[in-house]
Amino acid sequence: MMQDIYAELISIGDEILYGQTLDTNSHFISAELDKLGIRVKRKVTVADNREAMMRAFKEAESNADLIIITGGLGPTKDDLTKPLLAEYFDCGMRLHEDILEDLKQRFAKRGRELNELNKGQAELPEKCQPIENKYGTAPGMWFEKDGKVFISMPGVPKEMKYMMEDTIIPKFKEIYKAPVLIHKMVKTVGIQESILAERLEDWENNLPQEIKLAYLPGLNQVKLRLTASGVDEQHLQNLIHKEVEKLYELIGKYIYGTDDTNLPAKIGELLKEKALTIACAESCTGGYIAHLFTSNAGSSEYYRGGINPYHNDLKINILGVKKETIEQHGAVSKETVIEMAERVRELFGADIGISTSGIAGPGGATKEKPVGTTWVALADGMNTQTKLYHFQFDRQSNIEITSNSLLNLVRQTLSSK
Ligand code: AMP
Ligand code: MG
Repeated sequence: MMQDIYAELISIGDEILYGQTLDTNSHFISAELDKLGIRVKRKVTVADNREAMMRAFKEAESNADLIIITGGLGPTKDDLTKPLLAEYFDCGMRLHEDILEDLKQRFAKRGRELNELNKGQAELPEKCQPIENKYGTAPGMWFEKDGKVFISMPGVPKEMKYMMEDTIIPKFKEIYKAPVLIHKMVKTVGIQESILAERLEDWENNLPQEIKLAYLPGLNQVKLRLTASGVDEQHLQNLIHKEVEKLYELIGKYIYGTDDTNLPAKIGELLKEKALTIACAESCTGGYIAHLFTSNAGSSEYYRGGINPYHNDLKINILGVKKETIEQHGAVSKETVIEMAERVRELFGADIGISTSGIAGPGGATKEKPVGTTWVALADGMNTQTKLYHFQFDRQSNIEITSNSLLNLVRQTLSSK
């Protein structure tokens, strides 16, 4: 019988608690453990403080099989992990001559000499196995106690990653035979989480017990994550495949892809399939849509280019929107986005022109046009569609949701062509 293996991650450092450093280490380690089927049960962040750290070690030992610690390994007084682990495992320190020699040589190469603080890095608790640190001076440490494993690594992300990839992950693969854990991400756009949940209720209630479902909502997008765990990978893959097929039957028109696909990449596929190109004139999104398209490799095949005429004189003089249109209806209006989309289509020689104009906030609102009022348009040479939205987010989210909503309109239009 294969048993679940549980891990706890401990991030050490005042800088994380102060909000000065983002804990990217535990993010990385979680994802790596997940690939191995090891379940991260809890993550904690503690201060550079003796009591807090000792308590964290003790709690982690009672909570998990595998405890991974990062941080607190520098040579200075504020870094406590090494002496505290020696105390925790009740052992003295031992000088590792080979590590010292290696440090000396690395310093010599850079024309420097080791000082006492650096020499101290070669001293480790007697009960640990050292883990090589190619990018720094503090070795990692591997302890075992009553079937539990404690690992300590430096906080510097590059050093930690090297140790994980070169030493720790290969060793985990040898010693842990965890059940397989497979994730499938099904990505939807243009449907609210609650409505989606309603439509999927029966399907969800009848999911095989090996599969767990999570709704991960974003801006006008909801990702459905199906996670299967068990022993037989092929069996799990088949189960997931069947459920994804059912999802396509139930809500297919909202699904734009799975796993690593993104919405503009999906649009790129559709455009290539139909040998069409696109161009955009963005006011309130400020080039965000252009950025989304061009973040995908190969986008030059279908993305002609974009223009970001923020000021009205540029909308008129460069893009060619009529002065009267803006004077009569305003820049944030149906009439303006129609001309923007049609003009950029012509000017840039694209098959499809899209445009945005809105009040992203927090300023710029009028009585008739509150923050979040946003017009978008899509011109394909035959007709021009428009949509009006009233978003109620902060500036960045308004920009992102406008982009996602217009991209979804492009996707729907292309899918129906
Ligand atoms: P330390 O091992 O405590 O000397 O950590 C050295 C540096 O690594 C710190 O100054 C931080 O900038 C960085 N660091 C420490 N912990 C983390 C973490 N959990 N995620 C990202 N960076 C970190
Ligand atoms: Mg530190």
